[in-house]
Amino acid sequence: MRKIPTLLFLLASALIFTQCVNTDTKEEWAIVLHGGAGSAAGMSPSERDHYMDLLNQALETGTAMLEQGARAIDVAMQVVVWMEDCPDFNAGKGAVVNSEGIHELDAALMNGRDLKAGAVAGVRDIRNPILAARHVMEDTPHVLLIGEGASAFAASAGLTMVPNEYFSTPKRLEQIRRIREQKENPDPKGTVGCVVLDKNGNLAAATSTGGMSGKRWGRVGDVPVIGAGTYANNNTVAVSGTGHGELWIRRCVAFDINALMDYKGYSVEEAAREVIFNKIDTMEGSGGGVICVDKNGRIAMEFNTDIMYRAWATAGGLRGTAIEH
Ligand code: ASP
Repeated sequence: MRKIPTLLFLLASALIFTQCVNTDTKEEWAIVLHGGAGSAAGMSPSERDHYMDLLNQALETGTAMLEQGARAIDVAMQVVVWMEDCPDFNAGKGAVVNSEGIHELDAALMNGRDLKAGAVAGVRDIRNPILAARHVMEDTPHVLLIGEGASAFAASAGLTMVPNEYFSTPKRLEQIRRIREQKENPDPKGTVGCVVLDKNGNLAAATSTGGMSGKRWGRVGDVPVIGAGTYANNNTVAVSGTGHGELWIRRCVAFDINALMDYKGYSVEEAAREVIFNKIDTMEGSGGGVICVDKNGRIAMEFNTDIMYRAWATAGGLRGTAIEH
């Protein structure tokens, strides 16, 4: 019985939230980004302020480009580059380490205009994995390159290569020590992603991550698996996910949201909610969230964790940054 008021409250909050981030008019452009989902445990007020500020800066990078007419794929990629270079997210510099203490990074992007996609997985020395994903998409007949092959390709494309220690920060080294001592559980927080609708009606999605902290050596998550953590199709939606990657792969989360819209005529909000709350929630695992923008610039940001770092803006003047529900 006590669950009923809670359910009513969640439903009301969801309705209010949806009204705040969408209008009935088609947006000229729209952008949403995330910095991962997870638990709020241990976040101090100053840390929270710091993250709000970072999200705003990342958003500003994207909105400035969109106002000048940049392409969705360039905006999504550039926002992710900014977040990869920021040491406070689990992507690029600041990425988590695996059980061996090594950083292994995954990234992907997809262009909704022609369904072209590029991804890299398990890379250890490419400073910006999302740039390598872009080269895979544009300069090869492939979608996904892994490990040493991906690194050799990135180096030959002229990308900046770095020693694995480049990605380390004191926070991540302390985190793996605590996981090894079984004082902390692996937490999937801090992945970054961005979805964009540009002025020409093109959608794009980009996602980058160090994966789950303490993951097994060689483990690949959902991020570089097109249709799991990353997807874009101009006819429907662009999606970037964050959370327990194994669930996202098994449920084909990003493609499922697209499919509900394409085959069943769901709105972006309905599709995202259906997948996160009725599908992912029924599986064993720690959950996560998605950010989505549809072909009309409508936004959905759904998560079943305590928090999801996120920011959004549209040409029509909607703009926000949030962490909690
Ligand atoms: N989805 C990522 C992975 O499983 C982790 C995350 O989103 O934080 O690799």
